[in-house]
Amino acid sequence: MKREHAIVIGASIAGLLSARVLSDHFASVTIIERDKLPLYPEKRRGVPQSVQPHVLLTRGYRILEEFFPSIGVELSTKGAQKIDWVREFHYFARGNWSPKLDTVSDVVSFTCSRPLLEWAVRTQLREIANIKFVEEHRVIGLIGDLENMQVTGLKIQDIASGNIQELSADLVVDASGRASNAPQWLKELGFAIPTETVINPFLGYATRRYKQPTHFTGDWKVMLIAQQAPHNKRLGYLAKIENGEWIATLGGYGHDYPPLNDAGFLEFAHTLASPEFYEAIKNAEPTSPIYAHRATTNRWRHYEKIEMPTGFIALGDAVCALCPVYGQGMTVSALSAMVLRDWLQTNKLVTSRFQQRLAKSNQLHWMLATQQDSQFPTTTGAKPSKSNFILDFIGWYNRKLIANVSVDQSLYSLFTEVSHLLKSPLALYHPKIILQVLGGFILPQRQREHRDKRIHS
Ligand SMILES: Cc1cc2nc3c(=O)[nH]c(=O)nc-3n(C[C@H](O)[C@H](O)[C@H](O)COP(=O)(O)OP(=O)(O)OC[C@H]3O[C@@H](n4cnc5c(N)ncnc54)[C@H](O)[C@@H]3O)c2cc1C
Repeated sequence: MKREHAIVIGASIAGLLSARVLSDHFASVTIIERDKLPLYPEKRRGVPQSVQPHVLLTRGYRILEEFFPSIGVELSTKGAQKIDWVREFHYFARGNWSPKLDTVSDVVSFTCSRPLLEWAVRTQLREIANIKFVEEHRVIGLIGDLENMQVTGLKIQDIASGNIQELSADLVVDASGRASNAPQWLKELGFAIPTETVINPFLGYATRRYKQPTHFTGDWKVMLIAQQAPHNKRLGYLAKIENGEWIATLGGYGHDYPPLNDAGFLEFAHTLASPEFYEAIKNAEPTSPIYAHRATTNRWRHYEKIEMPTGFIALGDAVCALCPVYGQGMTVSALSAMVLRDWLQTNKLVTSRFQQRLAKSNQLHWMLATQQDSQFPTTTGAKPSKSNFILDFIGWYNRKLIANVSVDQSLYSLFTEVSHLLKSPLALYHPKIILQVLGGFILPQRQREHRDKRIHS
């Protein structure tokens, strides 16, 4: 039997995907969003990061496809570019470019602007009859019953008129992002509030769009020149998106923020570890201003550690916001929606149990982001890692692994699958792979070529 009414706070990726899942379990679902949602793929105020590049990892795309089987067609029709990440991702790390591969892989998703992706998901959701959008209304508090440990609804304010109204619900889902006020709302009602872990890499982005030059002949769709801790704090990301445009982003760790003026932007690009990014954009025609973004802190609100009132849960960036460099955020939101789907199959909706399951799902992604960020000495909040043999070996092995990825095609394919969350990172520590990596380190070039031929024949 369907439950009556669920309310979702926030119509961004986590909120939209949650609503999709809830619509199968509740008679009606209401999404409250403070913005007016654009009819076309356009940026909006409530998602200030939407002008920045958004990589859609293959795992995230596969979940989107499961929820909305025609999303690929919708994206293609609007000009999003399908990308095979093994073949069409041009990746520079530790002094080398990724190998050139002709083989087709199934590590596939789309490269497009964030507004286009969000618009496509929203368009699909508008087709679902029991989902209603309430736009230009801000949630200002929860309604609850402390004695019965229960949230029963929320208060919303009409942004134009200032009028306040109350809505009741069997379940309220907070998907209002990094700046979520839910801890404050819980406190006002006398409920426990989550503690936070904050790890700040002080990473800044500067992003600009360009018209793709007509003479451009590169065979990649996305290029990344990666930072390398602890000394090289700078990165460059360049991707083909819809409308014949490129989105170009410079990033700097540890307060090394890229400049926001024309000359400074190009100069910064010139200092990257490879000249290819600079060469690609230096004569390209800009089609946008340069947008900065510095809210890149890793922040985990530990809802899994408190006694949750029934009728209220939180997910997406409102719970676990990650440093964006690793491109995990939207995929982590998609995985949260899967956790929600499984939890909704249970008879009694124990909200603490949901938060615990979510924490388990977020754990790996948090670790990936914060461990990498913590290698920069300027990152704050990280626990100082005690040097010991095993950790030192893992660090040494990881560096060898990355170096080998650029010369070993099968390792590169595996590395790409792990990066796109299709395989566990443990796959990179399988004895066969360790031998392959260490073999690459120990074997001289000719023997390595001979071995690679064997592996790929
Ligand atoms: C610079 C940057 C780059 C990123 N790059 C990537 C990337 O490459 N790949 C990737 O997967 N992820 C990336 N992310 C992360 C990604 O943007 C988020 O993880 C993703 O949007 C999911 O967030 P969310 O839906 O939880 O919250 P958000 O996207 O922040 O949305 C929150 C929504 O809630 C609404 N809202 C907030 N408060 C209220 C209120 N009181 N009442 C009503 N509505 C409210 C907002 O208007 C907004 O619509 C990046 C993030 C940043 C900052």
